[in-house]
Amino acid sequence: MRVLVLGAGVVGVATAYYLARHGHEVTVVDRQPGVALETSFANGGQVSASHAEPWATPATLRRVFKWLGRADAPLLFRFRFDPQLWGWGLRFLANCTAFRTRINTERALRIALHSRACLKELRREIGLEYDHGTRGILHFYRDPKEFGHAVEQAGVMTDLGCRRRPIDPAACVDMEPALAAVQGDLAGGIYSPDDESGDAYLFTQSLEKHCRGMGVDFRFGTTIRAVRTDKGLVTGIETDGGVMTADRYVLALGSYSPLLLRPLGIRLPIYPAKGYSVTFPVCDPAKAPTVSLTDDEHKLVFSRLGERLRVAGTAETAGYDTTLNEHRARVILKRTLEIFPGCGKESDAEFWAGLRPKTPDSVPVIGPTPFPNLFLNTGHGTLGWTMSCGSGRVVADLVSGSDPEISLDGLGMDRFT
Ligand SMILES: Cc1cc2nc3c(=O)[nH]c(=O)nc-3n(C[C@H](O)[C@H](O)[C@H](O)COP(=O)(O)OP(=O)(O)OC[C@H]3O[C@@H](n4cnc5c(N)ncnc54)[C@H](O)[C@@H]3O)c2cc1C
Repeated sequence: MRVLVLGAGVVGVATAYYLARHGHEVTVVDRQPGVALETSFANGGQVSASHAEPWATPATLRRVFKWLGRADAPLLFRFRFDPQLWGWGLRFLANCTAFRTRINTERALRIALHSRACLKELRREIGLEYDHGTRGILHFYRDPKEFGHAVEQAGVMTDLGCRRRPIDPAACVDMEPALAAVQGDLAGGIYSPDDESGDAYLFTQSLEKHCRGMGVDFRFGTTIRAVRTDKGLVTGIETDGGVMTADRYVLALGSYSPLLLRPLGIRLPIYPAKGYSVTFPVCDPAKAPTVSLTDDEHKLVFSRLGERLRVAGTAETAGYDTTLNEHRARVILKRTLEIFPGCGKESDAEFWAGLRPKTPDSVPVIGPTPFPNLFLNTGHGTLGWTMSCGSGRVVADLVSGSDPEISLDGLGMDRFT
């Protein structure tokens, strides 16, 4: 079967790989000159099933009010006239209950755990290199109340199959000696031994090479303008290089997915949540972490990528504007150098901004559409790198008419209608 994958981010390329494994003739289309040059380029690097707690929780509401008006707030709602944002915001509020949090955690964790297992299997099978680390992820906390809440949540996740273990401040520093400078401030940590980290851009590039070896065709520098339909089927995609056709289509356009779906009558509540990352070479290896870390209160993640340290975080609703806000990016760098003094130099830092394709319930949108030959693999928000392999695999199964290895209940677009 001929399959067109729209989008060459980490999600699109992973989908292409699994489709090619099914024996399909696959073409990937992207407007950029290469793979993973938008949101998959310089993300936090964590493969973190342990991060599957949704953004919308009862506690988030309290925090958002505390952060309102602060330019350095980890989550910044910029109020603007944007019906897409307001509609998204209302659905987000509706998900801030304990009941919805439990449901959404299970759904996100289901695909994240499957994906982590697929990634490990893929590495064994085709031996990809992407500056990866397999020492687990440690979430650390300064506020005893936040730590208490996190311990409860870790118990819920452990029951759902994601091993998470609370540890005291001394054990945090034993595990990651680079935390020594803040040991006195710590209330505790939660360690997830099976989580990993790695450079999503290098991963996608390596997978692209592998895909090419399997016959996948990549059409870069090609902007998709519209999806053509007739009598309930997709008949082609209009690009700036002409119309492209296939038997099946998979849409994996990250934050831009709703824009091409709207003319088809499909309204997906995916909104871009801008975030920043900072990457710099490590100048003293003993002072930079090798275990991937999450500072939950400041919403920062730290991943050692070979000789580099990547730090990412903050979220801002600024529409599709990818301009780098220097102040917010520098706050990330300043906090990093406070936690790990002397690990790198401010002057070496490279800043980046990307748009997380965020759904209001923090669960991606994976599966069929009302058009039988169009499938969705989008809306992965904070965890697109974590969920890429599993999402690619289940969508390739669906396209091929096989049963996916996990239930897709609650992951499809039908939950919004
Ligand atoms: C600051 C930050 C930190 C993050 N940290 C992590 C992390 O630690 N772990 C994790 O799992 N996830 C993380 N994420 C989330 C993760 O990066 C995303 O979920 C993931 O990259 C989404 O991948 P994607 O392939 O769906 O989208 P993208 O990578 O955005 O790919 C979509 C592709 O579609 C193409 N495209 C769009 N519109 C068109 C068009 N009209 N025509 C042609 N091509 C088009 C784009 O060029 C792009 O290549 C982070 C994100 C940010 C912003």
